[in-house]
Amino acid sequence: MSANYDAIVIGTGQAGPSLAGRMAARGMNVAIVERKLFGGTCVNTGCIPTKTMVASAYAAHMARRAGVYGVNVEGTVSVDMARVKARKDAVSGKSRTGVEGWLKGMKNCTVYEGHARFESPHEISVGEHRLTSDRIFLNVGGRAIVPDMPGVDQVPYLTNSSMMAVDFLPKHLIVIGGSYVGLEFGQMFRRFGSEVTVVEMGPRLVHKEDEDVSAAIREIVESEGISVRLNAKCIAFSRSGDQAVVHLDCEDDARTVTGTHVLLAVGRRPNTDDLGLEKAGVALDAHGNIAVDDQLRTSVPGIWALGDCNGKGGFTHTAYNDGEIASANLLDNDPRRVSDRITAYALYIDPPLGRAGMTEAEVRRSGRKALIGKRPMARIARAVEKDETQGFIKILIDAQTHEILGASILGVGGDEVIHSILDVMYAKAPYTVIQRAVHIHPTVSELIPTILGELQPLI
Ligand SMILES: Cc1cc2nc3c(=O)[nH]c(=O)nc-3n(C[C@H](O)[C@H](O)[C@H](O)COP(=O)(O)OP(=O)(O)OC[C@H]3O[C@@H](n4cnc5c(N)ncnc54)[C@H](O)[C@@H]3O)c2cc1C
Repeated sequence: MSANYDAIVIGTGQAGPSLAGRMAARGMNVAIVERKLFGGTCVNTGCIPTKTMVASAYAAHMARRAGVYGVNVEGTVSVDMARVKARKDAVSGKSRTGVEGWLKGMKNCTVYEGHARFESPHEISVGEHRLTSDRIFLNVGGRAIVPDMPGVDQVPYLTNSSMMAVDFLPKHLIVIGGSYVGLEFGQMFRRFGSEVTVVEMGPRLVHKEDEDVSAAIREIVESEGISVRLNAKCIAFSRSGDQAVVHLDCEDDARTVTGTHVLLAVGRRPNTDDLGLEKAGVALDAHGNIAVDDQLRTSVPGIWALGDCNGKGGFTHTAYNDGEIASANLLDNDPRRVSDRITAYALYIDPPLGRAGMTEAEVRRSGRKALIGKRPMARIARAVEKDETQGFIKILIDAQTHEILGASILGVGGDEVIHSILDVMYAKAPYTVIQRAVHIHPTVSELIPTILGELQPLI
């Protein structure tokens, strides 16, 4: 069975559905293919379920801290993991069925369920179907890396995907990888009641962040009883009865951690290995991502790559933005580009880290003259009132242009407050615009103008 379309979209993650919707609304005849769960990673095994679980973990944490606020909670606080999972499944499932129903009911759009592979540059197979088009958009996303560490096949490890089925409390969860995904799961399971050890190969947690941010995050997770094992340069696995043993050092047999469950959170790889890209001649970059230009065009005319599979973002908002860039170029004669985008993301431990633009280390490496403002959350009234004073705010300014170069907000509300900075960065306005803005009291945001009024040279 073969059919020709004005456009084919492979994958229903964060870029594909909205792009398909825009093209179909313009009267184009569109096919969209999904091999597994509608909505992709964010909806099913990423942002939405994890943030729903983070909310349960926060509730448990605050229930344990209730006395601080003068609130009595009788007995010990315990967590019903089956109900945590059921709540997570309900939130994530609603989102998944929403995407699925929307696509299946969409005029001018045909949904194929199955694995798509290239047969030639403009021909795709999905089971017995052959689909052809002059425009093919790849939105195939990625999956957790299973590292080639000795003995990894001897322990029944978990990934972010299989974690979604966990409806029990692991007695001792060993998280391999002290970065974004690992820390979110680590803190939430600690708050659910598990013993948690985070094993990190490098000398500090979240190594892409500034050293002061890494140190503060370590302090936060350790203050909740999470054990952090750094410099695990040579990780290997073995079994001891029904326990998993993680060896942290290939030369020192004594450096081990024994636990009941292992979560692998050492990074993600693009789903590019089983797409038949070689039959289309689509080039990959050194990391196996699909190589694209600033407007997301691959090496083959008429094929674009959007979202995690192109290695340009790694977040839901960047994948969604890729869809906007593609549709703006294709449908609106608007030459939007990836390089218009400012780096921005959050790490959803509690308190969260909100990030925009350059880190302090990047500013220093750039060699430009800069100003810096920094304030601990303990000196922010709203944080004190809430008794959530961990972390700090740090903002970097170009000393010559007065534009904001970047910010890290590790603290209560950091994932929201960062947008007051991000929007001024997009406006390319000088920092004095926020410095003179009158923010609402009492908020964490109200201290942003204050910090900008106390800038010091970055030396
Ligand atoms: C635990 C975790 C937490 C996260 N939290 C956040 C967060 O808080 N905020 C944030 O911004 N980002 C977060 N992310 C990252 C975010 O989930 C991804 O960046 C985002 O989902 C990428 O979207 P995408 O459209 O590129 O791909 P995906 O969402 O992965 O979608 C790709 C789709 O393509 C389908 N597919 C793949 N190959 C084929 C094929 N050959 N044929 C047919 N279909 C195919 C897949 O089944 C999938 O449905 C998190 C990720 C993880 C793992």
